[in-house]
Amino acid sequence: MHHLVLQAPADARLDSEVVAGIAARLRPRALQPLRCAGDSCCGEALRLREVAADAAQVRALLPALAQRHRFDWALLPCGMRLRDFRLLVLDMDSTLVDVETIDELGSATGMKERIAAITEAAMRGEITDYAQSLRRRLALLAGTPESILEQVWQRMRLNPGARELIDGAKSAGLEVLLASGGFTWFAERLQRQLGLHGVCANVLDIVDGRLTGHALDPIVDGQAKRQALLDGCSRLGCSPRQAMAVGDGANDLPMLGASGLGVAYRGKPAVQQAADMALNHVGLDGVLRALEDD
Ligand SMILES: [Mg+2]
Repeated sequence: MHHLVLQAPADARLDSEVVAGIAARLRPRALQPLRCAGDSCCGEALRLREVAADAAQVRALLPALAQRHRFDWALLPCGMRLRDFRLLVLDMDSTLVDVETIDELGSATGMKERIAAITEAAMRGEITDYAQSLRRRLALLAGTPESILEQVWQRMRLNPGARELIDGAKSAGLEVLLASGGFTWFAERLQRQLGLHGVCANVLDIVDGRLTGHALDPIVDGQAKRQALLDGCSRLGCSPRQAMAVGDGANDLPMLGASGLGVAYRGKPAVQQAADMALNHVGLDGVLRALEDD
């Protein structure tokens, strides 16, 4: 059996007629309001308990409604709870933070648009060799002064609900890892700022205060991110089903697929398709509310 969770964006309510229409089609046993975790300003959320419909029926009904009426939905097995997970693995660029850091690095040398075009294609899955796409982008950064890293760090912001998700996961006993095809220079600062348990990311090569246009081998690609999740599970002595992963790009697909709950945050179409939960309107803390205890 499954519950269907509906969540409206911050400070908004779910359209009661839309909810009534969904309930008429999916015939849940009960409607349960979900509360806001912490003091964030989330919108209204409901759990439609034990819906009498299979995943195919839900997928045929919900995506179009959710897009039109601006809410998020997730169909989750009954009894799935946050505290039964042991590990949370987060992507960095465009998931935990609101930028693609490599695109921002290109702004110093007028390369931002060329780099961003490659990033966009890679994240949509149109370039299947992530390592090669990263090397192409890095080559465009050769000679960039190291000081630009600090400037990008100053502009970077956490996405809404990021801190609530991390704090909530840690409170429930989960370890939180950052697995990024971006760079340790940023990831390790975020690790210290947010008290994360570990980081897996690429190391920028910097000589005499300038980027060489290379990263140290091996490049962290989608398979390496998946491996970081599996290694975390081995270390904790848990099954990958007890790990959840959150990401937005095609290089997140392997780790989302290996996890027990794959979440797309403002994900590219292929990532939303593959994920167990897609967040397009609510913040990252929407994961917490969807997994609130029964
Ligand atoms: Mg990303």
